[in-house]
Amino acid sequence: MLGIWLALYPETVGPGDPRYPLGGGIISEMRKHYFLDNYCIIAAERRKRPSDFVVAKPASAGTSTCPFCPGHEGRTPPAVAVYKGGETFSDGEADRIKDWDIRVIPNLFAAAVPSPTPPTVQWIALPGFGYHEVMVDFRDHFATAADFSLEHMELLLKVYRDRYVHYRYMTGINYVSIFKNRGLESGATLEHSHSQVVALPIIPPIMKQEISAIADASFCLYCNVTDREMASERLITRNGSWILISPFYSQSPYEMWILPRTHLSNLEDLSQEQMKDLAALLRDALMRMKTLLDDPPFNYIFYQLPYDYHINVRIQPAVTKIAGLEKSTGVYIVPVPPEEAASELRQA
Ligand SMILES: [Zn+2]
Ligand SMILES: [Zn+2]
Repeated sequence: MLGIWLALYPETVGPGDPRYPLGGGIISEMRKHYFLDNYCIIAAERRKRPSDFVVAKPASAGTSTCPFCPGHEGRTPPAVAVYKGGETFSDGEADRIKDWDIRVIPNLFAAAVPSPTPPTVQWIALPGFGYHEVMVDFRDHFATAADFSLEHMELLLKVYRDRYVHYRYMTGINYVSIFKNRGLESGATLEHSHSQVVALPIIPPIMKQEISAIADASFCLYCNVTDREMASERLITRNGSWILISPFYSQSPYEMWILPRTHLSNLEDLSQEQMKDLAALLRDALMRMKTLLDDPPFNYIFYQLPYDYHINVRIQPAVTKIAGLEKSTGVYIVPVPPEEAASELRQA
C-alpha cells in the first residue's frame, strides 16, 4: 500500500520527508474496514505517545448551574423513568422524585420530536419524527463512567436495555441509537455524566451499508471478525461473553470495540450473565482509556439492530480533529497503529 503513496508523489517526496503530505506524517498503511468500503490511513509517528493526545480540560462550570445535579430535578422536564433502589418510577408534573440512581428525561433540545410540523421544502425532507432522551446516569457531577462501580454500570446497561426495548417495537421507529458523549470535544454540552437515546424513523446510512454487506455474505461478518481478532495482536482483553479489541480499521487513535463471542443482535437478546460480563468489560475499557490518556473526552456508541445483527459497542476517544480530509473523503487519519494501541491498552 505504501507503493501507492510513493507512486502518487514519485519525484518529490516520500514517507519521512518533511514535505510529505498530511503534515509530514508517515503514512504506513491505508486500511479498509473489515467488510465495508470505508478506509482509514494509519499514519504512524513513532514519537507519538499517549501523553501527546491528552486534551486540556476546561475549567469546571461547577454544580450550582447544573440542571442534572441532585436537588435540581425541577430544572428539567419531568423524568419518564426514575431508577431508584431497584425500582422504577416516573415523575409527576409538579413533584419530582429525589434520591434517584439514574433519571431518564426528554431532551429539552431534541433532535427529533414525537409530533413534528410537516416539512415545507421541495426536496426529500422527513418530518423530524422521533424521540430524544437524556439519561442522567450518575448523581455525582464530577464522576466519569470509568468511576462507576460494577453494580452501577450493570444498572446503566439495564436502563439502556429498557429504553431500547421501549422504542424498538414502536410504530414508525426504525432505529434506536444509544450513545454517550463525554467532554466538550466529544460534543457534550454539559459536564454532568449523561447518556442519550435517539429513536428515529429511518435506518441510518451507516447501518444500511452494514445490513447490505451482511445480507451479501453467507455468514455473520462480525462473528468472523470476533473469531479472527480473538487470536490477534489487536486483542486487549476478554471475558466469558465478550472481547475488547483495537479494531484493524479505526477512526480514532485508541478506538476500542466490544464484541460478543456469540451471535447476539441487540441488548434485549442478552442473558443476565452476558449483561454482567458486558458491564465488566465496558467498565474495564473505560478505566484503561482513562488511565492511558488521562481521562480524555470520548464517545461510546451501541450499534444494534432488532434481527440478524451482531451487537457491538465502539469507544472513541475524541483526541484528534475531524477536519477537511475526513469530511471530504470519509477517510480517517489514525496516528497510532491499532496494534500499538492494543499493546498500550493491555498494559494500562
Ligand atoms: Zn451536575
Ligand atoms: Zn455474529
